[in-house]
Amino acid sequence: MQYRVEGIVIRSMDYGEGNKIITLLTNTHGKIGIVVRGAKKLKSRHGSLAQLFTYGEYLFFRNSGLGTLTHGEIIESHHVLREQLDKTAYSSYAVELVDRALQEEDLGSFMFEQLKACLTAISEGKDLLITIQLFEMKILAAAGYAPDLSACISCSNENGPMALSVRGGGILCGRCRYKDTSAIELSEGALKLLRLFWQLDMRRLGNIQVKDETKQQLKHIMRSLMDTHLGLQLKSRSFLDQMDRYSL
Ligand SMILES: [Zn+2]
Repeated sequence: MQYRVEGIVIRSMDYGEGNKIITLLTNTHGKIGIVVRGAKKLKSRHGSLAQLFTYGEYLFFRNSGLGTLTHGEIIESHHVLREQLDKTAYSSYAVELVDRALQEEDLGSFMFEQLKACLTAISEGKDLLITIQLFEMKILAAAGYAPDLSACISCSNENGPMALSVRGGGILCGRCRYKDTSAIELSEGALKLLRLFWQLDMRRLGNIQVKDETKQQLKHIMRSLMDTHLGLQLKSRSFLDQMDRYSL
């Protein structure tokens, strides 16, 4: 059967003599694996369609299992994401997250739009840390693990300082804080930002000013959420951590 999809390359690996197998996140068919024949040859028309982060229209033939690319058109090559090390690192993390953290049933056109917006934000030079933390929240939500930030999960109190119970899946107020000794205290700024991440569509991310201290707190919080609920070992994240250490 012949298919026509819009997709973003979230994985690309060598396959046999001169070929590649790419994984696309599509707007209509979830994740799809496609063989791109001759992708590594210099004169290949299909070479750029097989590069990581490319957003394009793909025509492929498939009976079962892997598809075979017959034709494609690039919509946005995202070459900036492959040329600047920090942007490459963050984009690699975003696509690896989609590839590894989400199951077919978690994927839909909404997730496709979120990834598309995430890569656009990175390429446009929006704050990398904020962009990726917001994206992590979208991944957590799609996987069914977004924390409940509306009110205390124990007594529904909405006022006063809150702490995040990662295992409990939400916030605890001052009175209920003792129920999870590992709950993380949230500054006012951190709670505000977490709530923003929770509600904001990636497509509406503007330039927001966030104090460094709050960003670092959020990094710790998002890390705890991701590790507790998804528990993935990602190569791209180890690289991000290494990069962070050197820039300090
Ligand atoms: Zn409470």
